[in-house]
Amino acid sequence: MFPIEKYHFASSVGDAVQALAADEKAKIIAGGTDVLVRLHGGNSDYDRLVDINGLSELKEIKIDGEGNILIGSLATFTEIMEHEVVKKHLPVIAESLATIGGPQVRNSGTMGGNICNGAVSADSACAALIHEFDLLIEGLEGERTESINGFHTGPGRTILQKGDLLKYFCVRPENYKGFSASYYKYAMRGAMDIATIGCGAAVKMNGDVIETLKLAFTVAAPTPIRCKNAEKAMENKTITEETLQTMADALEEDVKPRDSWRASKDFRLHLIRTLAKKVTQQAVDNQGGTH
Ligand SMILES: Cc1cc2nc3c(=O)[nH]c(=O)nc-3n(C[C@H](O)[C@H](O)[C@H](O)COP(=O)(O)OP(=O)(O)OC[C@H]3O[C@@H](n4cnc5c(N)ncnc54)[C@H](O)[C@@H]3O)c2cc1C
Repeated sequence: MFPIEKYHFASSVGDAVQALAADEKAKIIAGGTDVLVRLHGGNSDYDRLVDINGLSELKEIKIDGEGNILIGSLATFTEIMEHEVVKKHLPVIAESLATIGGPQVRNSGTMGGNICNGAVSADSACAALIHEFDLLIEGLEGERTESINGFHTGPGRTILQKGDLLKYFCVRPENYKGFSASYYKYAMRGAMDIATIGCGAAVKMNGDVIETLKLAFTVAAPTPIRCKNAEKAMENKTITEETLQTMADALEEDVKPRDSWRASKDFRLHLIRTLAKKVTQQAVDNQGGTH
């Protein structure tokens, strides 16, 4: 059994925020695919839990009257991947989530947990960055909106404060309409493996010219990142061997890969340059289809 010291089943968003604020050590549990693994591993930082699984409104996925797409923080990976709104307007999210773990993890893990645990390898992070997610957060001061840009502050760290509960991801129309995108996860195994490098790209085309490129990586720096220098290098260009090379050179200003047991710094840099070209090309090719 899990060594849980204290457990509170939240009856509302407000109740969850109060329970978190009232207990210095309390942590939210959503799908539990990180929390229970850490608890099982003897990490007592996770033995006082506030369970949000009763907050069914946080499972909603919808488009509101202004065309904003809202994805509840408690929706599981499978629920998000299979939702018509996501498949039609944000297919790169479904593509990214399909790379996570295996069916059991996808049936219980949430995108809220994937972003809030601050993991530098989170497979939903690139899609969140290239579609400029807004995060609707309930805290002790009420509701506020934070951008995904700057949300991660270091490995396993985010801007979330004590008492904060992420409620929804919001994607504004200008951040998905007219874009096509693609995601590629390089990992040692084809499934049940954490990314060595993840790369996501979104493009808005004007004929053969890339009007806008949004390029993001995981495990290419201490946090998931957008690559502004590489994006600038490709704007208003057509795809040629030369322009892709110039983009890959500019990319070296954006990234800060490191050595780890999964890969050396040099191999990661090689992957980063190669995937940036491959995924940008795929995002452009996807413009041709329904993506
Ligand atoms: C076998 C296995 C394979 C995996 N493979 C992958 C993989 O390939 N790629 C990948 O990216 N991840 C992978 N993971 C990690 C994990 O599945 C994800 O990180 C998942 O998204 C965590 O979501 P959860 O709902 O289970 O979170 P939980 O474990 O419930 O919570 C995770 C963290 O987020 C916080 N949190 C959760 N919801 C909220 C909220 N709404 N507001 C504020 N804070 C919140 C919790 O307090 C906790 O700190 C794997 C895990 C396992 C066990």
